[in-house]
Amino acid sequence: MINLCFVFGTRPEYLKIVEVIKKLKNNKKFKIKILSSNQQKNIIKKYVDKNFIDIDLKLKNFDNDAIFVSKLIKKLNLIFQNFSADFLFVQGDTNTAYGASLFGFFKNIPVIHLEAGLRTYDLYNPFPEEFIRQNISKIAKIHFAQNKSSKINLKNEGIFKNVFVVGNPGVDHLVRYVKENKKQKIIKNSILVTMHRRESINSNLEKFIHNLKVFLKNNSEFHVNWPLHTNPNILMKIKKSFKKNMNQIRFSEPLEYSQFQKLMLSSQIVITDSGGVQEEAAFLGKPLLIARDKTERIDIINLKVGTLINADGAKLHQKINYYVKNKIDPINTKRWRNNQGFGNSSTKIYDILNNFLPKFKNKQ
Ligand code: UDP
Repeated sequence: MINLCFVFGTRPEYLKIVEVIKKLKNNKKFKIKILSSNQQKNIIKKYVDKNFIDIDLKLKNFDNDAIFVSKLIKKLNLIFQNFSADFLFVQGDTNTAYGASLFGFFKNIPVIHLEAGLRTYDLYNPFPEEFIRQNISKIAKIHFAQNKSSKINLKNEGIFKNVFVVGNPGVDHLVRYVKENKKQKIIKNSILVTMHRRESINSNLEKFIHNLKVFLKNNSEFHVNWPLHTNPNILMKIKKSFKKNMNQIRFSEPLEYSQFQKLMLSSQIVITDSGGVQEEAAFLGKPLLIARDKTERIDIINLKVGTLINADGAKLHQKINYYVKNKIDPINTKRWRNNQGFGNSSTKIYDILNNFLPKFKNKQ
């Protein structure tokens, strides 16, 4: 029997681990425990069935990274007094993933890291995610990388052992959604915007909003759908910047996954600072403008399936104009799809866990 404990707390973590967990739960070799840190409490409530979570750590204080991570470790320490795990499974670059990995390190519980090896090599961009991702790689014993470039990054850092290229389980949902739903008509001049990162919340978000407003004023045929993140700092800034109603912009609550996909499929252009939305928009072949100065999804840039417009949206106008006249090359989109695993990533991860973990455990 293998005791495998998942710790998660945000929407993207959930979306990227849920299919793997469902498969493992049907396998008698595994005893699965799912711990939620509650890092994105309001968003998680919308997505996650309460029965999915075995232990809710009920953490608070999300604005302070250091306090959050320390509280998480303290809580895990308490819980692990009556509980054991052979492996801890974490995903991505969140404070939850970092706290759980650090705990695993101190307790000598092997950590499995999904989405390992994505890098900008600028510790402050994205902050604190780049630091977190790099440091989880130092702790983890098993690394699931999305693609070859992540594997190469890990190799360059001296991490060779137990690195598996598995694609992106996030796009597994997308592939299923597209298969199950009729082709969505693209609405001309429609732009989808999502913004939530720390680098955007400082003065960049105000500048981004200014650049977007100027663009819309000069291009009255365009309209924007903007599902908001629940991050209170973002909400406050946006409220302030849109005192005067602009009927070309429609704000909404964070959307349920299939609603969001429907909106993305019908949009002509996607502007985002999100990691997951970048991956998905590029997968769909949408003109993708990344509202960041740097992206750790570097293959998106190299394959020309997305472009950086800076965190302040300085290149927004120029790049929208470009994509009104030019399409993304479908060959490049195909390459990106190949890079992301064509929707088979969860199965790949499951197969590796099923075959490799028993051997790994016996060697310990
Ligand atoms: N998403 C969603 N509803 C929304 C906005 C995003 O379901 O209103 C999904 C999106 O399809 C993607 C994931 O949330 O799978 C991305 O999460 P987020 O942008 O919060 O985080 P990141 O990927 O940047 O870590």
